Amino acid sequence: MRLALTLLLALTTVPCAAQPHVDVAKSLVADALKDDWGYAFLEGLTTEIGQRLAGTEAEARAAEWAAAKLKSAGFDEVHIESFPMTAWVRGVESGQIVAPAPQHLVLTALGGSVATPEAGIEAEIVLFRSYAVLAAAPPGSLAGKIAVVTQRMLRLEDGAGYGAANPIRRAGPSEAAKRGAVAYLHRSLGTTNHRVAHTGALNYTDEAPRIPAAALANPDADQLERLAARGPVKLRFTLTPTTIEGARSFTVVADIKGRERPDEVVLIGAHLDSWDLGTGAIDDGAGCAIVAAAGKLIAALPQRPRRTLRVVLFGAEEMNYSGPAYASAHADDVPKIVVANESDFGARPIRIVEVPQGAAASDFSRALIDVVTPLGVILGRNTARDAGDDVRPLARAGVPVLALRRSAPDYFDIHHTADDTLDKIVAAELAQNIAVWAAFAYLAADSAVDFRALAAQQR
Ligand SMILES: [Zn+2]
Repeated sequence: MRLALTLLLALTTVPCAAQPHVDVAKSLVADALKDDWGYAFLEGLTTEIGQRLAGTEAEARAAEWAAAKLKSAGFDEVHIESFPMTAWVRGVESGQIVAPAPQHLVLTALGGSVATPEAGIEAEIVLFRSYAVLAAAPPGSLAGKIAVVTQRMLRLEDGAGYGAANPIRRAGPSEAAKRGAVAYLHRSLGTTNHRVAHTGALNYTDEAPRIPAAALANPDADQLERLAARGPVKLRFTLTPTTIEGARSFTVVADIKGRERPDEVVLIGAHLDSWDLGTGAIDDGAGCAIVAAAGKLIAALPQRPRRTLRVVLFGAEEMNYSGPAYASAHADDVPKIVVANESDFGARPIRIVEVPQGAAASDFSRALIDVVTPLGVILGRNTARDAGDDVRPLARAGVPVLALRRSAPDYFDIHHTADDTLDKIVAAELAQNIAVWAAFAYLAADSAVDFRALAAQQR
């Protein structure tokens, strides 16, 4: 009896030095699966704030709202950081086929697009079924025309079709303008056959005039393909967006201070801004709810993890400011961030963990897989190279990243559309996400694993 007691005391009072507490991580998973705080956060954000367009009053309100929620969730320190940006605000948008068969078009302006003249822009189209053909077209070949790219984005489980199609939206407008086009339309970077258009930011270059640019709903792109196969097509469309110079965006930062190594930081993030068409539930209210709820569960533990856990809700991701703004404001912190990760792909179940380079055989990874296997998650074959836009500048500056990959073939049915609303979220799936994130965040924060050193050993 005495021996058993001594053994029990030894086990409870002298845990292996700096080994993460797997039992605590398992209890976090159990808590996450029965706690509805994360869903309530998402419901509140998408209901009480709604859309959160970067640099607007709505995004500022969202930051205040989220900071108050995180304070009440037991974080040790919560603050809001602000940075300047040029905001872009959608105006009227409408489009029609003028000839040969007049009819309505469903389209939406790309973020950052300049306006058309008030009466709209009207011209014949040149249609490209492949973006590569436009990119290879000779200078002047699109003079006076509306360039239309109808290349289809692939619907893949891990969303990989998006990255491949991204230049169509980002670079297409300037590539068309370089060849003389007066306006640019492309098939939405989206995978639904519903008649909704998917917005998203473009990137003008300085080498071409800025021309108005919009995305067509998939069925409308199909319609233009059929009409163009029959002969010349003339379109008109109107966009009246405006820009606001000197606007500000806001990033919310919430810390749980480490009990032994407060200067070492595990950073988990998501972006608080959204496009204006829906209410930003899958993109990226869900991510905010996931990382906030994971932090809230860890803050409720009887003991702080060894390292600091930092939850960052980034501002203005959709307009490309979030990652660079945080990385430049926190350049001195970069060496202190032991690992970073971001949630920005909805809330379908997480299926694959990609650990940082060199970490697959570490105690940390073994513990994480032990804890998340019952949640239907496996260790990926690849190591994590990229975890998302918000943390990419940190990764480029040497911060190791971990990635939690979802199976979400329908993510790009909804992404950046008016359909991005709360009803698309399945509460039990959101809870699985929170459980996996809480396990990862806790195990990284409560261990002494040095991901930089593990990566260096592999080189
Ligand atoms: Zn996003």
